[in-house]
Amino acid sequence: MKNISFIDLSVQQKRLKDKLKLRIDNVLSHGKYIMGPEVSELEKNLENYTDAKYAITCGSGSDALLLSMLAYGIGPGDAVFCPSFTFPATAEAIALVGATPIFIDVDLDTFNISIDDLEKVIINTQKENKYKLSMILAVDLYGLPANYDSLRLIANRNNMILLADAAQSFGAEYNFKKVGKLADTTCVSFFPAKPLGCYGDGGAVITDDRDIAEKIKSLRLHGKGRSKYDIDYLGINSRLDTIQAAILLEKLNSFDWEVSMRNKIAAKYTASLSELIKTPFVNSGYNSVWAQYTLRHKDREMFQAELALKGIPTMVYYPIPMHKQNAYKNYNDNNRSLPNSDKLSREVFSIPMYPDMDNEDQEYIISEILNIIK
Ligand SMILES: *Cc1c(COP(=O)(O)O)cnc(C)c1O
Repeated sequence: MKNISFIDLSVQQKRLKDKLKLRIDNVLSHGKYIMGPEVSELEKNLENYTDAKYAITCGSGSDALLLSMLAYGIGPGDAVFCPSFTFPATAEAIALVGATPIFIDVDLDTFNISIDDLEKVIINTQKENKYKLSMILAVDLYGLPANYDSLRLIANRNNMILLADAAQSFGAEYNFKKVGKLADTTCVSFFPAKPLGCYGDGGAVITDDRDIAEKIKSLRLHGKGRSKYDIDYLGINSRLDTIQAAILLEKLNSFDWEVSMRNKIAAKYTASLSELIKTPFVNSGYNSVWAQYTLRHKDREMFQAELALKGIPTMVYYPIPMHKQNAYKNYNDNNRSLPNSDKLSREVFSIPMYPDMDNEDQEYIISEILNIIK
């Protein structure tokens, strides 16, 4: 029996070790651990990579979301529409600034926010007249961009901001545009297990909007004005460590290759499994970075247990949708049901996916899954 890792970053580390060490040594020599030169170098590279005008790094993906809420002045009385089937940080940023998250159902095929449900709920919210229609916060779940063309139309029609929680999708594309260019402002995470991960916490806000970029640069430094103790905004402390920036600079160099490997692995999973089990659906025009490769099965627990017996780990992202969470269910005022989010939270499980996975492991995983189905 094999003993497969869900994500094994050790091969990647070996591949990059010498260069990473040089980069880290360089930081140790200059000693500028906070806001050192690597931070602005990385920001330039992120701008080049995404083709966006501004990339501002920060302490985490969660902070990127919170900083964006603060920069747009989102607060009490504002409605922010987001999918229920997501990681808690999406809803958290909305609630922390005192705004109201309004949970929208997702599509079963893409796992992303349902355009039909969004339109329906926006109309109802407008009729109720309790909140201002302020923002759509889309999530690119598992690395697949949301439907930004439709989201853009809806946002424009209602004069709303379109924010992207792209914590899982840095590097992905929609209609030949990179994540970072698809929404008004985009929030990225560099948590180690994300497609582009550092060796600790890290994140970035990406935007073409100069005012928002300037504001985020201030907000991450306690809202600083022209000098350090000249405070313009109520801000927070959220910076990317220089050492993490150094690591990301090196990792960004091989990132395109990694994304292509992820796509190769995903294509093989899909080709081998799609006739027998529900595999992820990627429409034309979309390019996923496969933060996760996620299957669906009615008897998920059986599946996970059988795979575990074969040394194949699986993970459930996410077992409880936001509208059912203790911390957030009160926001679902009218106890609206979100059937797709409920169904997915019962049926999804992700299987091992990382760019350095070898062929033999992948074939083993495929054949064991087929053995269970047959
Ligand atoms: C990981 C993640 C976040 C938070 O990112 P951190 O860097 O861990 O704070 C936010 N939203 C989604 C969808 C995520 O997957």
